[in-house]
Amino acid sequence: MPTALITGITGQTGGYLCEQLIASGWTVHGLVRDRDETEPEFRERSPLAQLHSGDLGSPESVRAIVDLVEPDAIFNLGGLSSVAESWKKPELTGLITGLSVASLLDAAWQLRARTGRRVSFVQASSAEIFGFATQVPQDENTPVQPSNPYGAAKAYAHHLVGVYRRLGLEASSCILYNHESPRRPEGFVTRKITMGVARIAAGLDSTLVLGNLDAKRDWGWAPDYAAALALAGTGTPGDYVIATGEPHTVRDFVIAAFAAVGISDWERYIEQDPRFMRPQDAPALVGNPARALEHLGWKPTVAFDEIVARMVANDRAILGI
Ligand code: GDP
Repeated sequence: MPTALITGITGQTGGYLCEQLIASGWTVHGLVRDRDETEPEFRERSPLAQLHSGDLGSPESVRAIVDLVEPDAIFNLGGLSSVAESWKKPELTGLITGLSVASLLDAAWQLRARTGRRVSFVQASSAEIFGFATQVPQDENTPVQPSNPYGAAKAYAHHLVGVYRRLGLEASSCILYNHESPRRPEGFVTRKITMGVARIAAGLDSTLVLGNLDAKRDWGWAPDYAAALALAGTGTPGDYVIATGEPHTVRDFVIAAFAAVGISDWERYIEQDPRFMRPQDAPALVGNPARALEHLGWKPTVAFDEIVARMVANDRAILGI
């Protein structure tokens, strides 16, 4: 039975990845930080996962867990995951989202040398490494030029994965575009919208306050993105853009969410507030996933309207309507 170590296991995509790996016969270990408030819910969902407390910001802690678990594959999804938050905590983002990857990669490399077996490393990278991209859609050859502290931290990690791959480690960087699900926290615009619309449909709120409605993203279904990481863990090491290739604006998302509750005059419920505008919003981040299809056999399975409808339905169920 192969063994996986997942950092960020209690997050949205880490949770799906854990469930998928366990279902296909893996033993799964996860690194969790102290006082992770999402841990109890995670334990309920995935009682078979073995959790270890540790700190991605501490090289000793990271190495100790890799040495203890001796995984066949390390999936690195840990770190601060919000662009907005990275502007408030740039140093911490650099340390946890960026620098910690050096400890993980080095520990994987040492483990490989010690045991003589394949130790895969899969980095959950981000479309934010392409922040200022002028090329649309982006692919694995698009220049890395981040536009915020989160993207810069992910860019460092992405480059270091390439360094270890060239050294001989089976290391992949999956460049994940936005991926959503009912488990997305409300700090992200998609879940904020679906919960806001569910509350309006229930008569609990009369407005939804948002920032830039023209921002464009390539939104996919999070369990599909977890599946891509799992495929990269056993497949040919490389860089892989994981995306749908279909751009939508925040406005499109709002319209689809209101449509899911039967409201067409959505504009009367929306207010805009500069508080939710970004100092630098990335231009159209849209990915071309052709290489992932060719080398990993991966493709997205859930269409945009269906993603929105599923998230709205989940939030209505939470509110009991
Ligand atoms: P990101 O792609 O990781 O930054 O994911 P988000 O879901 O946080 O943001 C997606 C886009 O939605 C960004 O371009 C934001 O500028 C835009 N946006 C518009 N209004 C809001 C809002 O109220 N909250 C958030 N988080 N983003 C918003």
